[in-house]
Amino acid sequence: MFFMIEIKNLSKIYHTKDNDITALSNINIQINDGEIFGIIGLSGAGKSTLVRTMNLLEVPTSGEVLVDGKNLVSLNKKELREIRKDIGMIFQSFNLFDQRTVLDNVAFPLELQKIKKEERLTIAKEMIELVGLSDRAKSYPSMLSGGEKQRVAIARSLTTKPKYLLCDEITSALDPDSTNSILNLLKSIREKLNVTIVVITHEMKVIEKICDRVAIINNSEIEEIGKVSDIFTNPSSEIGRKLVLPESSKTSFTSNGEKIRLIFDGLSTKEAVISELILECQAPINILYADTKVLEGATYGHMIIELPSDELQKRKILSWLDGHHQTYKKEG
Ligand code: ADP
Repeated sequence: MFFMIEIKNLSKIYHTKDNDITALSNINIQINDGEIFGIIGLSGAGKSTLVRTMNLLEVPTSGEVLVDGKNLVSLNKKELREIRKDIGMIFQSFNLFDQRTVLDNVAFPLELQKIKKEERLTIAKEMIELVGLSDRAKSYPSMLSGGEKQRVAIARSLTTKPKYLLCDEITSALDPDSTNSILNLLKSIREKLNVTIVVITHEMKVIEKICDRVAIINNSEIEEIGKVSDIFTNPSSEIGRKLVLPESSKTSFTSNGEKIRLIFDGLSTKEAVISELILECQAPINILYADTKVLEGATYGHMIIELPSDELQKRKILSWLDGHHQTYKKEG
């Protein structure tokens, strides 16, 4: 039995009047059952095209899209319609019917499936409750905030009890508070309904907050795939570094001293490392930059420090770091 999405050697070329555009090139991804999988990249990288191949809204030029072990590309219309019931999708623009109430919007997919009115309203109410909007069931979309509209879209996507939920930039139009509450909602949906979730975004903070693993896409190709904590602490690609390390960490610091980047990988905290380092080495340390986060309850991040010019003190610090298995890299 398969319970996952697998993309194999997938390419997509758009043929336009003037030229051919390669949107995806030889993509290989496996998404595990029950995980929240992120796909991040800059605008134009190919994210939307990629997520749209996962329910065949976009037909690949070559390669396979396996859902539960079935290659979507080779299914007939009826089989495709069946399997699409397992794959919900949500977009940045909520795509709600303005003339319908929240309840009727949420019940809509069941109407398409010709489910009896009483049953579809029962299911819709259940989903509206799940997303925390029971008191707005009779409201119209124009009466709701962006975050609430997205909750309605999420409830609507869940009525058919999908195994997979594809989310295309669903928080990009929302303010930070609404973004957080929508991301928390996705997490709780994964827990309650055991849905596998694919999240497309250009924002690292979205990935950090909810994803288990992430694929970084750039110029139509996957640059790296890994656990979010691994990629956050040690991105191996140029684009990975660009997305993970904020610009401010690369600005040229005014001091000319030798610098190192301390990498916190969830095993130590920056406070403990710095205070012990200063205490034991009796050396002055200049902290130039710090960006640490708590992921899955552990501290991850980077700190750039300037080493003292005194050779002996410098060596003391580096050997202390080596002795305490604190990862660091020389900063160019
Ligand atoms: P992203 O979601 O990362 O911004 P897209 O998947 O939307 O990227 O686009 C990837 C590339 O494919 C871009 O160069 C875009 O212009 C092109 N593209 C997307 N859709 C079409 C289309 N329907 N026809 C032609 N080119 C397209």
